[in-house]
Order: sequence, then structure tokens, then C-alpha cells
Amino acid sequence: MKFSNLHQHTNFSDGKNTAEEVVLSAISKNMESVGFSDHSHTSIDESYCMMPSDYPLYHAEIDRLKQKYADKIKVFKGIELDYYSTVNATDYDYIIASIHYLYEGGVCYAIDHTLQDQLDYIANHCNGDKNKFASDYFNLLVNHVKNVKPLFVGHFDVITKFGLFDTDNEEYRKIALNALKETIKYCNVFEMNTGAISRKRRTVPYPEKYLLEEIYKLGGEITLCSDSHASDTVDFYFSNCVEILKEIGFTYFLKFDGEKFYKQRI
Ligand SMILES: [Zn+2]
Ligand SMILES: [Zn+2]
Repeated sequence: MKFSNLHQHTNFSDGKNTAEEVVLSAISKNMESVGFSDHSHTSIDESYCMMPSDYPLYHAEIDRLKQKYADKIKVFKGIELDYYSTVNATDYDYIIASIHYLYEGGVCYAIDHTLQDQLDYIANHCNGDKNKFASDYFNLLVNHVKNVKPLFVGHFDVITKFGLFDTDNEEYRKIALNALKETIKYCNVFEMNTGAISRKRRTVPYPEKYLLEEIYKLGGEITLCSDSHASDTVDFYFSNCVEILKEIGFTYFLKFDGEKFYKQRI
């Protein structure tokens, strides 16, 4: 089975390697395709994203790699679009819709970056109630997905990254599951994201298993993504993901052909 990864960062944003190094690594791993998805420019925090002046360079380089390696691997040009960004969707082969910030009272909380940002948001805007934070995050995600109609939804439950939530907690689960039912109305493809495992922050992919089970029940579909920030983790944990999907009942995951998804039987 040949793998494909549509969530890959490079040194155009906060990744370590060049796009070409990633392509060469993906070829060496016998992958079918790799899609680049560097971070869209977010003016509220420019520390990790592409700058507007990077966009033409990004386009030129990914287009060059598409051509150069056309006989070895398919290369796609995507973007990981944050809620606090706008891009011209037609410039890209696909868009991933992700939330990285909550922005309230002129303050930017990088909720997938530090636990402290999450705690500050909860103290300043939720009267200490972390489930209110969960609701705010998921509401923004649903809106974002509704607005941009992405190819798939990025790291659905990323707010669990720092262990703040007991994900067995009934109230939290209810919020997450309701959000899933809303999100799937606008986009029924979710990435199974292994990025936090490769960076040793988690031991399981996003979305967590109970959410994957709900996606399966609701007729949603999955594409495997490494959210990799280096060339050597481009297909990280994908074989394990396939086993998890099979356990749940999935009989395929999705791969992209540049225009649409098709099924990879498992
Ligand atoms: Zn992200
Ligand atoms: Zn990412």
C-alpha cells in the first residue's frame, strides 16, 4: 500500500526542511504523493507562518518540484488555512481548515502552541471554565469549515494537546461530539493527524478514537496526515493508523489525485 501525506510543513513556514528535501524523503519511502500545506499568513502572529512575500516563492518552488519529480511522485500545492487568514483558494490544489488561535479583546491566544495560552484564555474569557474554552474553540472551527469549504478538517481536537482535558469526561465529550456533528455537515473528511505523536506530545492521533468511531458512524471519511515539520516524518505512524481504522470498521482511507479524493482499500 502506497501512502500519501497532504499535511506537510517546510521552511517556508515553521518546518525544518526544504520542500525538495521532503519530496526526496517521500520518494525514498516509496510514497505515492506528498502535498505541501505551509501555514497561511496570520497578521495576529507572524512568528510561525508564511509572510505575504513568501507566497509567490512558495508557488514557484512547489510548481518546480511538481515538474521535476513528475515521473517519481505526485506533488500537490495546498495550504493550512487558519481562521484568522484569507487566501485566494483557487491558487491552491486544496485547503486544510485549522484553528490555531482564539483572539479576544485584542489578545491572541496560540491555543495549539502553549498550555499557558490555553490557561490564560480560560482565566480571561471563560471564568475558569475549561469547557467554555472547548465550546469556543469548536464553534470557531465549525464556522471556519463552513466558510472556507476545505478539502478536509485539520487536527479536529487539537485543544487536547497539552492534557488539559480529561477526554473521558462526559461534558467535554458532549461538546466535542456535538461539534463533530456540526462540522460534518460542511465537510465530511477529517485528517487522522500524527504530528503530535512524532513530536512526542501525544501517544494517539487526532481525532481521538471515540471521535473516529463517531466519524465512521456518521459516514465521514479519513485521510492520513503526518502534519510533519521535517523530511524524515513525512509518513510517520501511518501503518499504525491503518490498524486503528480497521479496528473501528473503516475499509478504506482517502488519497488525493490533485482534484478529488479516491479510496485506498485497507
Ligand atoms: Zn495546524
Ligand atoms: Zn500543520
